[in-house]
Amino acid sequence: MRRIREGEVPYDGGTAVQEDPGRPVFSGNGANDYVCVECGNVLAIGMDPEHMGKRVRIRCGRCRTVNVSAEVPAELSRRRAPGRNGEGR
Ligand SMILES: [Zn+2]
Repeated sequence: MRRIREGEVPYDGGTAVQEDPGRPVFSGNGANDYVCVECGNVLAIGMDPEHMGKRVRIRCGRCRTVNVSAEVPAELSRRRAPGRNGEGR
């Protein structure tokens, strides 16, 4: 997970709030566990990266840090298909 600054987050419905710090927001049968970048609290267990990489955000129930699971910034995940930009010329 990586940190995102609160206030910069577009709350478009993609942020899951952990209400109970002792209980993961998501649990599944995947390979990865996700913990808070700030305090190490467990936010999700058994998730596959394919499920967690699409702009999923979780607000830690212990320290209120908003974590994002995607390994690239949101701006990069929105990139357009290559080869169509005419900039630079
Ligand atoms: Zn935390």
